Amino acid sequence: MSKGSINVSVENIFPLIKKFLYSDHEIFLRELVSNATDATLKLKHLCNIGEAKVEYGQPMIEVKIDRDNSTLHIIDQGLGMTSEEVEKYINQVAFSGAEEFINQHQDADGIIGHFGLGFYSAFMVADKVEIITKSFKDDAAVHWTCDGSPEFTLEPSDKTSRGTEIILHIAEDSKEFLDEYKIRELLLKYNKFMPIPIKFGTRKETLPLPEGAAEDAKAEEIEVDDIINNPTPAWTKMPADLTDEDYTAFYRELYPMQFDEPLFHIHLNVDYPFNLTGILFFPKLGNNINIDKDKIQLYQNQVFVTDEVKGIVPDFLMLLRGVIDSPDIPLNVSRSYLQADGAVKKISAHITKKVADKMASLMNQNRADFEQKWNDIKVVIEYGMVSEDKFFEKSDKFALYPTVDGKYFTWAELTEKIKDQQTNKDGKVVVLYTSDVDGQDQYIEIAKEKGYEVILLDSPIASHLIQKLEQSKENVTFVRVDADHINNLIEKDEVKISKLSDEAKTQLTTAITETIDNKSYTIQLEDLSASDAPFIITESEFMRRMKDMQQTGGASMFGGNFPEMFNVVVNSNSDLASEILATESKEEKEALIKQALDLAKLSKGLLKGKELTNFINRSFKNIK
Ligand code: ADP
Ligand code: MG
Repeated sequence: MSKGSINVSVENIFPLIKKFLYSDHEIFLRELVSNATDATLKLKHLCNIGEAKVEYGQPMIEVKIDRDNSTLHIIDQGLGMTSEEVEKYINQVAFSGAEEFINQHQDADGIIGHFGLGFYSAFMVADKVEIITKSFKDDAAVHWTCDGSPEFTLEPSDKTSRGTEIILHIAEDSKEFLDEYKIRELLLKYNKFMPIPIKFGTRKETLPLPEGAAEDAKAEEIEVDDIINNPTPAWTKMPADLTDEDYTAFYRELYPMQFDEPLFHIHLNVDYPFNLTGILFFPKLGNNINIDKDKIQLYQNQVFVTDEVKGIVPDFLMLLRGVIDSPDIPLNVSRSYLQADGAVKKISAHITKKVADKMASLMNQNRADFEQKWNDIKVVIEYGMVSEDKFFEKSDKFALYPTVDGKYFTWAELTEKIKDQQTNKDGKVVVLYTSDVDGQDQYIEIAKEKGYEVILLDSPIASHLIQKLEQSKENVTFVRVDADHINNLIEKDEVKISKLSDEAKTQLTTAITETIDNKSYTIQLEDLSASDAPFIITESEFMRRMKDMQQTGGASMFGGNFPEMFNVVVNSNSDLASEILATESKEEKEALIKQALDLAKLSKGLLKGKELTNFINRSFKNIK
C-alpha cells in the first residue's frame, strides 16, 4: 500500500468544492455516470481501431445503492485505469484543474467539466470515496481511497473484471442520495438518453404465454435488469431513418405528461462550424405563451445539461419543445458565461435560420396544411419576426395574414390584393385588421360593405408585429376596424354633403356632450350617408396600440397608464340626428341620446354592469 498527498497547493480543497463549486449537489451523479460512459466509449474506440485486444461485448453501467453500508456504487465495464493512470488522472490532473478553478473563479456559480473537476464532485455528497479499477491493459487492479483530506491511499485490489467501480460513502447531510426514488429521478433527469445502457436494479417482466397454452396457464414472471435510459434517442439518428411516428414517439418520451401531438418537427443536424444535433417540435400553442413547462432540453453528447435555455436559443424559440445536443456547449456553466460564449451565439443564429428555412419549406410543400396550422404556430413566428431581424427578413416566405373570411395571404399577396382599393389619398396602403372577430363585428361589416379586406391579428403580440411591419415595409399603415369611421380610415377624395347647417351641428354637439357628461368620450360629427349607423364608438389607433404594447411589455414611451379614450362618431345626416334636434322636450332629447349612445357602446362591448341593466330595463319598457 502506498500513501500520498494529492498534488494541491490549496490547503484543503474539499470544503471549497462543497461550498462553491456546484450550486446543485445532485449533479455529482451525472458527472460520475458521464465518466463511466466516457470510459466505456473510449474502450469501444480502442477496440475499433485495434488498440485494445479485448472483447468489447455489450457493456453497461450499473448504479447500486447499499443502504446497510450507506454507499452508492457506480460500476462500469469501460477501459479502467492502471495505478499510474489513477496517479495521473485522479491525483494530478483533476487537482490542477481544481487549482485553476479556484484561482480564477473565487465566486463563480458553478463551472464543471471544463476544468476536469467532474470526478471530485463526488465529495459534495460523500465523505469518503473509493475507486476500484482494473485497466483493460491487463495490469493489476488498484484501489484508491480518499476521505476528503488531501491524503489518499493506493493499494492493490483483487478486482478481476475490467472496468471501474466508484464507491461513495454518503455523508450524513446527503442521505437523500441513498433513496431509491431520488436516484431513479436523477438518472431519469440527467441520463435518460445517454449512449451506454444504465442499469438500476431489476424489474419484473411477464413472459408471453407460449402458443397453445392452457386457458388457466399463468404467465411466467422473470426479473430483468431495469435499464433507465434509451441509448439511441431519435436525435442521434438520421432524419431519413425516422418516420413521423418515430418523431411523435420521441416527443412522448421527452414529455411523458404531454398529451397533445406536435404540429411540426425540425431535425437539426450541423457539423460545421460547430457540432449540433437536435429535434425541435412546434406544439399547438394557440394564443398561449406560457413557457414555463416542458421546455427545450439542452444536452451535451446525450448528457442532460439544463432546460434553462435562455441565451442559448433565441427567446421566441423558447416557445418550442425538443432537444438540442452540442458538444460545443460548455457543460454546467454559469448563465452569463454561456451568453457571452461565441459558439453559443453562433448556435443561436443557426437555429433561427434553420427554423425559418423549415417554415418556408413546409409552406411550399403543403400550403393548405400550413394554413390550417397557422393559428397554432403564429405566436412563435410573429414573436420571431418582432425579435430577430434575420428571421423577419425571411418571414415574407411563410408569414400569413388570415382574413376574417378565412383566406390566408402572404404579405406580397395581401398588398397586391388591397393596393388599388385600400390606398389612402396620401398614397399609403391601409391594412384594416381586427383583433376580435365577434367583438368587432359591426365594424368589420361596415368595412366589408365597402369591399375592403379585413385581416385577423389576434395574437398577444399583434401590436408589436404591426409596429414592426409599419417600420419595415414601405408606405403601409395598419388600422384596426374600430379605430375611426371607415371613411376616415381609408380617406378618399369624396364630396361630402351636409344635411345640417353649421349652427344645427353645433347645437347637436352641445346636446350630446351635455348628456354624455364624460371626459373620456369625444363627440365627432360626420357627414355620412343616411343609411350609415347614427352613432358608433371608435378608439384611436395610436392610443389603443400604445396601451396594448404596454400590456405585453413593450414600449412605454409615456410611462404610466394610458387612459381609455373614445370617440362617439355621430352621423349628422342620419334621421336620428335630425330627430334629436327637432325634439323639444329636454328629457326626451336626452332619452334619445342615451339610448343611441348605449346601442353604440353595446356594439363595442362597452356596456356593462348597471349601465347594461338600466339599458335592458329601459328597452323592455319601450317595446312593452
Ligand atoms: P473529465 O471527465 O472532464 O476528464 P473528471 O474529473 O470527471 O474530468 O475525470 C478525470 C479523469 O479521471 C478522466 O479524464 C478519466 O481519465 C479518469 N476517470 C474518471 N472516471 C473514470 C472511469 N469511470 N473510468 C476510467 N477513467 C476514469
Ligand atoms: Mg468527467
